[in-house]
Order: sequence, then C-alpha cells, then structure tokens
Amino acid sequence: MTARTTVAVVGAGPAGLVLAHALRRAGVEATVHERLSRAELERTARAGVLEHRVVEYLRSLGLADRLTAEGERHGECEITCLGERVPVDYGALSGGVRHWVYPQQLLVRDLVAAYEEDGGTVAFESPVESVALDGDGRPVMRTAGGKLRADWAVGCDGARSTVAAALPGGADGAARRYPYDWLTVLARISRPVERIRYAVHADGFAGMMPRTADVGRFYLEVPAGEELSGWDEPRIRAELERRLALDAADPALGALLETGMLRMRGRVARRMRAGRLLLAGDAAHTVTPSGAKGLNSAVADVADLAGALAAAVRGDHGALDGYQQRRLEAAWRTQEFSDRLLELLHLPAGLPPEQREFALRLRLERIHRIARPGPEGAEFARAYAGAGELPVAGVWPPAQRTAVASRSTGR
Ligand code: FAD
Repeated sequence: MTARTTVAVVGAGPAGLVLAHALRRAGVEATVHERLSRAELERTARAGVLEHRVVEYLRSLGLADRLTAEGERHGECEITCLGERVPVDYGALSGGVRHWVYPQQLLVRDLVAAYEEDGGTVAFESPVESVALDGDGRPVMRTAGGKLRADWAVGCDGARSTVAAALPGGADGAARRYPYDWLTVLARISRPVERIRYAVHADGFAGMMPRTADVGRFYLEVPAGEELSGWDEPRIRAELERRLALDAADPALGALLETGMLRMRGRVARRMRAGRLLLAGDAAHTVTPSGAKGLNSAVADVADLAGALAAAVRGDHGALDGYQQRRLEAAWRTQEFSDRLLELLHLPAGLPPEQREFALRLRLERIHRIARPGPEGAEFARAYAGAGELPVAGVWPPAQRTAVASRSTGR
C-alpha cells in the first residue's frame, strides 16, 4: 500500500513533535512516524533545562501550559572550585532571563497529548526503514505499513538519523570526541535541587541538575571509553558526594533510578538540506549536555523550519532556501558556547597532579569573571538562559500567528 502526505516528519522527539504542531497550525498536512512505542518514548529521560526563548515559543503555540504550571524557574547556578562556591546569578546578569526546568519526557508526553487533542496522530512503533527519491526528487519512504510518498521529508530522527544517511552525498560534517565521558545518573533526592551545581575538581568534573521535586540528574567525569561496569553504586555515590561536596543543606541522594555512560561528542552536519530532504535537531547536530543546549537547539531549528516549510508548500521557497545556513550558523554558536563551558569545567587531559592546582586557580579566575556584573557575565548569562526570541516572526504569515495566539489564550 502507498500512502501520501505533504510533509513526512520522521521521529517524535521534541523536534518532530513541535514541528508537527507548528505545521498543523499552518494548515500543512503532515504525518509523524516514530520508531518507539508511546510508553518507551514517554519514559526516555534526557533533558530538563529549557531556555527562556524556547518556552516562550512553545507558549506562543499554546503548548506550554503544563510546563509553566508544573515546571520551576531557575536563574542561579553555582560553580565550585578549590573549596569555593561561586554563585552565578545569571537571572540578574542577563537582565531577568531565566531557565525553566521541566523533564523532557513530560514535555514529550504533553506534546503527544496536545497533538492528539488537535486531531493529529503519531504512528508509534513505525520506524522509517529507508528513504529514497523518486524521479521528481520527492521522498519515498519504506515503513512497516508500506510505502509513504511525500512532497518533503524532515529527519527529526536523532543522532543516528536514517534521513541524514539518505541525503545524496551524505550529511557528515565536523565532529569532536572529547577526551573524557560523563557517567550519568538519575537519582531520587530528599529535596529539590535549588540550583545547578558545576563542580570543577582535581579528580574530575561533577554536576548536579534539577529535574523534579524528588528526582535529580547527576554527572561524573570519567576517562573516555570507561565502562559502566567498573562503577558500582557505592563508588558512584561516594564520588558524587566528594566532588560535589554535598553537605546537610544539599539534597541527600536516594535510590539511583538510572545510570549510563554518555560518550562526549560534538558534531555538526555539513548540510541540513538536500532538495526535499531536510534535517532538524540531533539529526543534524549533537552537542554535549554541558550548557543544556541540545533540546533547545532542536526546538529552535523547527521554529525556523515550520514557517519556512509552510511558505514553500504555498510556493514561496525564499525562507526555506536560507534555512540551512541560518541553522548551521546557530549550531556552531551553540557548539562554541558548550565547548567553552566544557573547557572551564574540565582540567586538560593528562595534566600531572602537581600542575592541577595551577589549572584550577586559572579556572577560578574565569568563574569569578563570569559571575561578576559586566560584559563577560552578561554574555554568558544571556547565552546560557536563552535570551531573546527564537527567530520565527518574519517567516510566519500573519493569519497563522493570530490563530496561534487565540489558541494559546484558550487553553
Ligand atoms: P530525539 O530526542 O533523539 O528524538 C528522535 C526521535 O526519532 C526518537 O524518538 C527516535 O526513537 C526516533 N527515531 C529514530 N530513528 C527513527 C526512524 N528511522 N523512524 C522513526 N523514528 C525514528 N538538551 C537540552 O536542551 N537541555 C538539557 O538539559 C539536556 N540534558 C540532557 C541530558 C542528557 C543525559 C542527554 C543524553 C541529553 C540532554 N540534552 C539536553 C539533549 C537532548 O536530550 C537532545 O538534544 C534532544 O532529545 C534532541 O531532540 P530531537 O527531537 O532532535 O531528537
């Protein structure tokens, strides 16, 4: 059987779901195919720290009601180094821009529910197995249900994207493998994490991030390629407590709900478009979680793409023609921000023990510089919290914006 659609959205992560919503509001027909079951998708816990401008965009689509009702606002983090705890009031340094904290799996759950409420359907357990182009350059996909023909296909299918692999000439770009990995932990906690803590430590970085009132996300730097099997629970707990200098005022670690090894990589594809095949989110670029930018960049891509694609469907290709350049430039800005933060948080690989204090003192200087009011603090704070607006306004037609605004106030 062959099905037809205008836009085939491959993947129902944050990028795919937000794109599907925005296209629907613009009156563009789309299908969404997701490899996982709904239950699997809605329990994949990854991100949790959302930029101000991303939440404002979701709010403009009427998709942030639960997020803003149940999520927490955060405007301060803390960077510890050589026994000093340096608060960074990025809410104040940025002139009032703060993050929202809301777990990715809850956002995804809300987006699926709202899409269904709007009459849309996500085809779960329906991986797109292959993507080819017909004689007119239109995508033809193979799914478990048969063939799917589309005018456009958008790969929102994450870091191992089938759509990216199908781009004629490939999408490979520049990549960096960092000389360390992060052991990741989701743990029950006795009280909420009040602010993100980054611990710069002679024995390796550690991080503590908020998620919900009783669950926190923790990170431990380990050597690149380290296996999780070498880290039993007592060792993970001891190392987190020591590097983060957890004391009575901090949340106590309860059960470890999930542990994993995150291979630390940065990657930006060379292309985000080949004719009628497009890429967005992790399918085009992956960034380490240091600056909490992956999900945020994924939503920023599709905020741009939705309007550009809606215009192209109506025959105006101008905005779509600039999509790749705009978003690759943004992806490099994000990589540069996250890479700079990683450099601050980690000591150079292989540094002999007798030189570590020197490297830590240099880092403490930089930490103080970004914590102080001034151009450096303001630049860090605005980039970190996601100041401003996602660039969509010039691209969306006015009728659409009115429809979105009225929906947003009606929910
Ligand atoms: P994904 O979320 O990867 O979605 C892709 C979807 O496509 C998946 O559901 C997948 O099953 C599906 N799929 C794949 N192949 C196919 C196929 N062939 N057919 C159909 N479906 C397919 N980012 C932040 O902004 N803030 C944070 O605080 C943050 N913290 C993080 C913490 C951790 C531990 C990790 C691992 C990541 C974190 N990130 C963070 C990054 C963030 O989770 C990702 O960048 C984000 O999920 C990217 O969204 P996406 O929609 O592009 O891709």
